Amino acid sequence: MEQVLEAPQTQTEDPRYLSAYHLERLGVTRLNRHNLLLRCRNCGEVWTPTLNADATLPAGYWRCPNHCNG
Ligand SMILES: [Zn+2]
Repeated sequence: MEQVLEAPQTQTEDPRYLSAYHLERLGVTRLNRHNLLLRCRNCGEVWTPTLNADATLPAGYWRCPNHCNG
C-alpha cells in the first residue's frame, strides 16, 4: 500500500530557496540558481556544496574552501 506524504511547510535550508541576502552577508555569491554554484567574493574561489543524502544543505555549505569566511 502506497503512502502519500504531504510536503512539510517548514523553512528548511533547501537549496532551491537559498537566501541570496544571507549569502551576500557571508561574502558568497550564488552564480547558478540550479546547480548551486557558489563563489567567494574575497578570493574568487568557486565551489559546489555537496548536498546531504536527503537533499538538504550540509552545515557550513557557504564556507569558502580557502576559509575566507569562517
Ligand atoms: Zn575565499
